[in-house]
Amino acid sequence: HYPHLNRPLDLGFTTLRNRVLMGSMHVGLEEVPNGFQRMAAFYAERARGEVGLIVTGGIAPNERARPMPGGAMLTTEEEADHHRVVTQAVHAEGGKIAMQILHFGRYAYHPQLVAPSALQAPINVHKPHALTSDEVEQTIADFVRCAALAQHAGYDGVEIMGSEGYLINEFIAARTNHRDDEWGGSYANRIRFPVEIVRRVRERVGRNFIIIYRLSMLDLVEGGSTLEEVIQLAQAIEAAGATILNTGIGWHEARVPTIATSVPRGAFAWVTQRLKGHVGLPLVATNRINTPELAEQLLADGACDMVSMARPFLADSQFVKKAREGRADEINTCIGCNQACLDHTFGGKITSCLVNPRACHETELRIEPTSAPRRIAVVGAGPAGLAFATTAAERGHQVTLFDAASEIGGQFNIAKKVPGKEEFHETLRYFGRQIALRGVNLRLNTRVSAADLQAGGFDDVVLATGVVPRTPAIDGIDHPKVLGYLDVLRDEKPVGASVAVVGAGGIGFDVSEYLVHHGHTVTDAAQVDREAFYAEWGVDTAYARAGGLKEPQVPAPARRVHLLQRKTSKVGDGLGKTTGWIHRASLKARAVGMTSGVQYQRVDDAGLHVTVDGQPQTLAVDHVVICAGQEPQRELLPALLAAGVRVHLIGGADVAAELDAKRAIKQGTELAARI
Ligand code: SF4
Repeated sequence: HYPHLNRPLDLGFTTLRNRVLMGSMHVGLEEVPNGFQRMAAFYAERARGEVGLIVTGGIAPNERARPMPGGAMLTTEEEADHHRVVTQAVHAEGGKIAMQILHFGRYAYHPQLVAPSALQAPINVHKPHALTSDEVEQTIADFVRCAALAQHAGYDGVEIMGSEGYLINEFIAARTNHRDDEWGGSYANRIRFPVEIVRRVRERVGRNFIIIYRLSMLDLVEGGSTLEEVIQLAQAIEAAGATILNTGIGWHEARVPTIATSVPRGAFAWVTQRLKGHVGLPLVATNRINTPELAEQLLADGACDMVSMARPFLADSQFVKKAREGRADEINTCIGCNQACLDHTFGGKITSCLVNPRACHETELRIEPTSAPRRIAVVGAGPAGLAFATTAAERGHQVTLFDAASEIGGQFNIAKKVPGKEEFHETLRYFGRQIALRGVNLRLNTRVSAADLQAGGFDDVVLATGVVPRTPAIDGIDHPKVLGYLDVLRDEKPVGASVAVVGAGGIGFDVSEYLVHHGHTVTDAAQVDREAFYAEWGVDTAYARAGGLKEPQVPAPARRVHLLQRKTSKVGDGLGKTTGWIHRASLKARAVGMTSGVQYQRVDDAGLHVTVDGQPQTLAVDHVVICAGQEPQRELLPALLAAGVRVHLIGGADVAAELDAKRAIKQGTELAARI
């Protein structure tokens, strides 16, 4: 299975067992007590899952390089010794691991930040200090020391992070390098910094040590590199002694989504391919590669020599092994949501994964066979019920899963209809397969009653019955113009040309996105239209200009949508930290009006009457779609409790404040782990 993916890669002094690189992710364990033990368990599980080469989260080469005060750095032998448990655990599983060296440059969140020039990043509140030429030399020496210490700690190599707009990238781009010494000016001068780092690291670590250089092949910002410059840099990095060239796409300040779920799969592999033939080093393609089919295809097409996947290994540590054994349909696929990984990282929390709450919590959330199997009924096959049922069955419990609907998935069936959320189909495929594998007794089209559950002789009943939409008290709420979000997304009722969406939480955004599109959602994320994505966000696959940008072109919206909220905060404030801006930009580009501080008066034939800033207004819309939150669905609870049944509430049936699949799956899994 997947012969190209599983072909070993001979690096001369060492051989990787396959073509899979686990891309660097800061997981938040780098800085917590006991973090190295937890990282050892995390990475070892991925090595056991047969990842060819793991790259760790970024480690700073000196104090100023750190992302924030207290951020992980490697500057002494004592610090290096802490890493040994990680390298040993990975090696014990037959894996290989490289440590990423990352200097945050002007993206650092502390006042001591540095950069080639004193130019503040648009996404930072601090202005950097411009490095003096002595300080540039010292910084290179710090990279070299850091690499040597990584070698001392037992790593198989290092990755030198030269992309995403961090320090090295800032030296390379004219946008951020306004120096007039030997480190600035001409392109040859601007790339001297990365080339010297690679050259001197190689000199220090000897020949038999992997040096991956992460090269920004497409900056996606004005004043970024041209393709010719990227090729020139790649050749210089090869000559300086690197072993592998990894791809970086887009600076953090770029206004183009590069890894969110709405980015089509493999949308940036073409960039890596443009380098093919210009260098002899193995090239790694990256970004939104999340299935073995796609990885195999890219390798078979000769677009790259390795594929990098990062988040897919949060979602499923056994990805590579399952693929090799012909069990790809058992892979828990990363859906690109960022909700438990990047949103956690940027929120200062430990990384996890929406579809796999064990990620980075391997030592705490353990799924072990039960010594006392129970008969358990689960009511509701949404995310919470699915996570519970499959995990409990995996542990050896006898699980019956009821749902009134004809298919599993609950609210996921609604999410998967939203343009840009096609990946939810994969989660349902995964759970469907787990139900079969674990022997869960699945009873669809079954609206079970409390009496049925009592008669069934279950030891426990888990209520995962989800939510019912909340109906706000607005005059005229029964008017035919008014629809619920289920009418629109689930039942696909006809909707007119102008619409007011009441409530701008996650569902309000989803409904708006659905309504402004022309209704051709695909059921397979592999089919999402790449060309439309490039056009909308202005990605130039011809790479005619520096940075790879062109004028964006957004298709005219299918409807005129007004997105309203009662709260006075900015519309979309509660969306994910790393994806909220994408949803807002997408709707803005489609002329969606967003208004906060709205008071709803009534709905009548004229439309929706509201007051904004004390001013009465009438939105003359054809339909008003209510997305005003939801309430827990617990109608079975009183009778079960009265009958003395042991009942557990999970997911939306427990807390319905905001639909939250992350919490639902976590809660279902945690209950299953201890029941
Ligand atoms: Fe992928 Fe979402 Fe999990 Fe992150 S939280 S790894 S994006 S599925």
